[in-house]
Amino acid sequence: MGRSSKDKRDVYYRLAKEGGWRARSAFKLLQINEEFDLFTNVNRVVDLCAAPGSWSQVLSRKLIEERDQKNAVKIVAVDLQAMAPLPGVIQIQGDITKVSTANEIISHFEGEPADLVVCDGAPDVTGLHDIDEYIQGQLLLAAFNITSHVLKKGGNFVAKIFRGKDVNLLYSQMKLFFTDVTVCKPRSSRNSSIEAFIVCLNYFPPEGYIPTMANPLLNQDLDYNSLEGINCMLTPFLACGDLNSYDSDMTYPLELEDGNDYIQLPPTQAPIKPPYETACELKKKNKIQEEGLSVNILT
Ligand code: SAM
Repeated sequence: MGRSSKDKRDVYYRLAKEGGWRARSAFKLLQINEEFDLFTNVNRVVDLCAAPGSWSQVLSRKLIEERDQKNAVKIVAVDLQAMAPLPGVIQIQGDITKVSTANEIISHFEGEPADLVVCDGAPDVTGLHDIDEYIQGQLLLAAFNITSHVLKKGGNFVAKIFRGKDVNLLYSQMKLFFTDVTVCKPRSSRNSSIEAFIVCLNYFPPEGYIPTMANPLLNQDLDYNSLEGINCMLTPFLACGDLNSYDSDMTYPLELEDGNDYIQLPPTQAPIKPPYETACELKKKNKIQEEGLSVNILT
């Protein structure tokens, strides 16, 4: 397909080039902002998974170019890929799931936290939806962990999500940390894509929450026993029963009184209407074939 053909087919692709945006994604952030007014009174922003940089361009234009007071503005953009420079944007090349990258980002906001964190991160999709959703979920978790270190109370977080079958869990998790959580699908995001954006407003972590980069699924070094209160998210596993009692995986000989046969007791309560009852009846009367049932039943 030629380039002009893509220009015709994808209006946002064409408009992005006409507007000087590095990617059509710029329109997604602009449209989310139209709805949620993300940039008013916002000076300090983190743009996670930022390359090639169209969201950083939006931030740079809205917070620096279009403003008289630009001194207080700090925009930190992070991506695995290198990005061409942008006015007023500090760039970090790194993996947001790595603690070293997180620490570098956090160091820019020590003493004065961020007002807004955005993340348009997406893995290279495999086409296997479960895997893609899982990796996207891990990316979002990493983005949230960084956010919990740098975002001020009352700040906002916007991130790309894949609306898969387990996405409700994600909404509930975000709702623990933000008072207002909305899922948003900008016009410029293709309907055929399961992509959407979670807009989390008013960061309000639970009392006693200590931000961490630890992902229990990835972090083998985490000392789970040191977690306390609201930070302890693991359900304890408790083995109970006397160690001298029967082991349910062993086979034991029948315990018979001297010289007595073993007496098999009936079940205390037989099933009331088991689904296999009809088949058993037919089998007893040798009528399985007649009824046209081709079943393998347990006799
Ligand atoms: N918002 C960007 C823009 O407007 O130009 C587009 C972002 S693009 C859809 C997704 C980006 O996520 C890619 O540049 C990719 O390198 C980045 N990414 C994926 N996994 C990442 C990770 N673990 N750490 C940092 N960046 C990551």
